[in-house]
Amino acid sequence: MRPVTHNIKIKQVEAPAGFSGEGFFATKLAEAVGLARSNSIWPLPFATSCCGIEFMATAAAHYDLARFGSERMAFTPRQCDVMMVMGTISKKMAPVVRQVYLQMAEPRWVMAVGACACSGGIFDSFSVLQGIDQVVPVDVYVPGCPPRPEAILDGFMRIQDLVKTESLRRRYSDEYKHLLEGYGIQ
Ligand code: SF4
Repeated sequence: MRPVTHNIKIKQVEAPAGFSGEGFFATKLAEAVGLARSNSIWPLPFATSCCGIEFMATAAAHYDLARFGSERMAFTPRQCDVMMVMGTISKKMAPVVRQVYLQMAEPRWVMAVGACACSGGIFDSFSVLQGIDQVVPVDVYVPGCPPRPEAILDGFMRIQDLVKTESLRRRYSDEYKHLLEGYGIQ
């Protein structure tokens, strides 16, 4: 028997700003690229401890990260758009976080998920990095110990906002180069 489909509501993303008429729609290239990019962000989950479990819940059926076009996790930095760092990062692990970031292609974004990734969390000790923004630039911070999946999704939507509205020229700007130089990245 064929499934009943006539009552299923499909929610589509909003069209970017532009001009429409009968049989045509015109918008800026940047708007179209932003729309496509923001709804197909491929995450690189860099999970080291408990916050990673919350991310697993976020990706599973109930919270369903796939709704955002982001079900395609990859552990190959060159194929990913956003690095999600989740968990305690020891100072020994910090160069690895940085190496993974360096291997990602531009444009790339970074989310610090949970108190440990944001600021070291409760581990104010000699061995724990007090926030990943000491080694890589961070775009969105998600607070909590651990943050609930709703908070991770909210952070992800903030990344989508950034991706959607980012100028195509931002990565060539002096401001961006200056930011990377601050981290010793050419
Ligand atoms: S923020 Fe809390 S839950 Fe997340 S990794 Fe640190 S200790 Fe674990």
